[in-house]
Amino acid sequence: MHIVDLSQPVSTGMQVFPGDPVVSSNEVATNAADGFQVAELHLGTHTGTHVDAPLHTVDGGMAVDELDLARLYGPARIVHVPGAAPRSMIEFSTVEAQLNNLKPGTIVLFHTGWSAYFNTSAYLDHPYLDPDIAAHLLAQGVSVIGVDSLNPDPTPETQTEAPLHLPVHQHILGAGGAIIENLTNLADITWKDPLFSALPLRLMGLDGSPVRAVAMRPFPG
Ligand SMILES: [Zn+2]
Repeated sequence: MHIVDLSQPVSTGMQVFPGDPVVSSNEVATNAADGFQVAELHLGTHTGTHVDAPLHTVDGGMAVDELDLARLYGPARIVHVPGAAPRSMIEFSTVEAQLNNLKPGTIVLFHTGWSAYFNTSAYLDHPYLDPDIAAHLLAQGVSVIGVDSLNPDPTPETQTEAPLHLPVHQHILGAGGAIIENLTNLADITWKDPLFSALPLRLMGLDGSPVRAVAMRPFPG
């Protein structure tokens, strides 16, 4: 199997959503002192490449441990939207032709190229999806989507007091779907019909989890 890693590295001080927990790690045991090495991790549920469970924006929604793993593993459609302007909306009409003949359960990944800005302030200025795209996908039986940016909805530049308006989240998570954020390396999927996997940690009752997202291509046998 040829595997492309679609996951951002997780490390101390890495970029997170404005106001989310700072990522850090510390040694709590060392080979020299203890004969073995162990680290402790401090991180939020939406650290790096991660999946949003319905509970993220839906009161009483499914938690990440309740997601059906079969929905996070399967054939993917890559939708290419290069050159979108900062903080612009990717309109349904722009991508409609790439959403033909979707099978229910296909995982749809939006490739904007914005992952190149990860760990810079420009990363917050990502383009975002027209809520009509989410509605169209749900009508096709597609309820798992991924983006190579921080958010399929607009991201505020700083932590805000008011509740955020997250229409794409509300569509997808409101329908019991899932959203994978902060994907990277989508340009390295150079073959048709990739198999995609983004399995979360089994975090009981929580709203999201980091994932190791990959695209797979069986070697021709
Ligand atoms: Zn998230």
